[in-house]
Amino acid sequence: MVSKNKPVFNSYSNYIRETFGERVQKISINTGYSCPNRDGTKSLGGCTYCNINSIKPEYANAKKSVTQQLTEGINFFSKRYKAIKYLAYFQSYTNTYHNNETLIKTYEEALNVPGVIGLVIGTRPDCISNEIAEYLQEISKTKYVSVELGIESTDEITLQKINRCHTYQETIEAVEMLSSKNILVGGHLILGFPWETKDDLLLHAKNVSKLPLKFLKIHHLQILKGTQLAKDFEANNDSFKLLTLSEYLNITVEFLENLRPDIVVQRFLSEAPKDLLIAPHWDGVKNYEFTSRVEKRMKELVTCQGQLI
Ligand code: SF4
Repeated sequence: MVSKNKPVFNSYSNYIRETFGERVQKISINTGYSCPNRDGTKSLGGCTYCNINSIKPEYANAKKSVTQQLTEGINFFSKRYKAIKYLAYFQSYTNTYHNNETLIKTYEEALNVPGVIGLVIGTRPDCISNEIAEYLQEISKTKYVSVELGIESTDEITLQKINRCHTYQETIEAVEMLSSKNILVGGHLILGFPWETKDDLLLHAKNVSKLPLKFLKIHHLQILKGTQLAKDFEANNDSFKLLTLSEYLNITVEFLENLRPDIVVQRFLSEAPKDLLIAPHWDGVKNYEFTSRVEKRMKELVTCQGQLI
């Protein structure tokens, strides 16, 4: 039964408010660590959709130290918002892909910056060692720690087609290993690969609901300049179908209905820089605007996250 006053989905903003009681801002850091899908360990070309320049704010520059990037980020946000705390967000590339000593030094440098209360570490499911997980487990006793895994798809064929060079089985194992150490685990999924049907997309929701995930980000597929997908898109423009905004809104609502209700949903849209984005444009709709549309639609339909489970 959907209550009138209950939120229609489990939002990250509510989670932050309930967990910290105040605004907490993530500050993106670029360590310049590579990823096994670009340095030749697994592949040289990277994932077919990936243009690494799409996820770096100006202050996140690997030539600057972690401290400098965080300090500049804090200066930027502290002018806009009062009384906020910060999470160091290791976002670009694969932030557990280095020797343990360097990784630990990097994380500790971030935790020593005044105002930083924890770490959010983005990485691949096949790149998190037991030793680093144990270190993070120890840190998580006194600091906030979350690991964000690029799941991208729960379908093995899709993972091959997008050249992820890891399997969904590796995702399952990584989520279970981290969760068994009481580390908060987030996942990232991309919806809208042209060969995936609506049923495939809803199956992703059902599959990730079986994992001990705390957070989920879902993103629509964007075609970015300089990627293999851009070449495929330009070569097969007529048959390469991307979701329209209205299709994505409908899919998102159904996806949420099939998603376990305690999973905190962090976002729905990718927002690549305009100069890198080939398609879709969707009139520049922002994540917060899309989120409002999702809430409105779900209220109209009298439905909520997990309604169909
Ligand atoms: S998406 Fe991540 S794993 Fe894939 S090529 Fe880009 S940085 Fe590497």
